[in-house]
Amino acid sequence: MAKEIDELKKKVDATDREIVGLLIQRKNLTDSILELKKQYGISFRDKRRQNEIITSLIKLFGKENKELIEKIYMHIFNNSIRKHCIEYNRTQINTVQDALKLRPLIIAGPCAVESREQILKIAKLLADKGIKLLRGGAFKPRTSPNSFQGLGDVGVEYLSQAAKKQNMFTVTEVLDSNQLKKHYERIDIVQIGSRNMASYGFLKELGKLTSEDKKPVLLKRGFNATLREFVLAAKYIQDEGNPNIIMCLRGIRTFEQIDSQMRFTPDLASILELKEMTDLPVIFDPSHSTGNSKFVKKISDTALNLGADGLLIETHYSPAKALSDKEQCILPKELFDILEIIEKY
Ligand code: PEP
Ligand code: MN
Repeated sequence: MAKEIDELKKKVDATDREIVGLLIQRKNLTDSILELKKQYGISFRDKRRQNEIITSLIKLFGKENKELIEKIYMHIFNNSIRKHCIEYNRTQINTVQDALKLRPLIIAGPCAVESREQILKIAKLLADKGIKLLRGGAFKPRTSPNSFQGLGDVGVEYLSQAAKKQNMFTVTEVLDSNQLKKHYERIDIVQIGSRNMASYGFLKELGKLTSEDKKPVLLKRGFNATLREFVLAAKYIQDEGNPNIIMCLRGIRTFEQIDSQMRFTPDLASILELKEMTDLPVIFDPSHSTGNSKFVKKISDTALNLGADGLLIETHYSPAKALSDKEQCILPKELFDILEIIEKY
């Protein structure tokens, strides 16, 4: 009996060696294709061809193997593309406009810039994986005046230095026009936080200030705003001459907060409606919407499944030590796990 099993195991081992050998052979071939695609400027993923491959294999090996074939092949496709996407992002994306064309659009980094070393370290970890948009708050709108308020001016400087060093672009919140004017050159994407979505005077000033160069604005949904109010807030900026707005859903306050483990209610269904209401990119923030790192991965996956154009995710290499929002930030490694899932989009 045991001998019989051993014999079969030997055959399995031999088959495995063949499989891995063939997988490597396949990878070398697709690497050459991807290299050529890069030279010719053709996009890496070819969904039609992926479907053709899967369909023809199912036809050949039978419907009973459909699930196996689909699962394994999606993994193989993603695996061969990932390295090239990272390399492409790192070397070919050199302007914020190009970075904003990437899908999914990923904005990552700590809640707050805490020190020069902290932001340099996290920027490198993210850049090595092809992430181009580095977030980090310097002017933090905290609920309590006794909480860490951010490093202020010097925080924006550290963020900007870290981003430059890694060929990344900065995303940071300003609370008023003076902060924006002062740091205009250091900020690639201006974040308007949830608490300021309805500061219409500020939105108008922002629209005017950015109307010339059309600097992108990341507008977060007020946590008590309706979708219509959110879209109209964007219009305040657009009407002053800046159409470059990214809409960010970040959770709303509902009765669930009476006893929920989540800080806000993730407004996932709003992705569907907002996409109908506007042509602007719609991204989702799984960090602030849950306030709880254990939900970030699933909410991210769901947001993309529902059609979100990207994600804003708080990441810290040592979440327990984060000076703000430590309950919700995730490790870079966890972020990369999420990105592995989403390579399929
Ligand atoms: C943030 O993204 O840093 C932030 C403060 O988020 P919100 O404005 O959505 O609370
Ligand atoms: Mn935060």
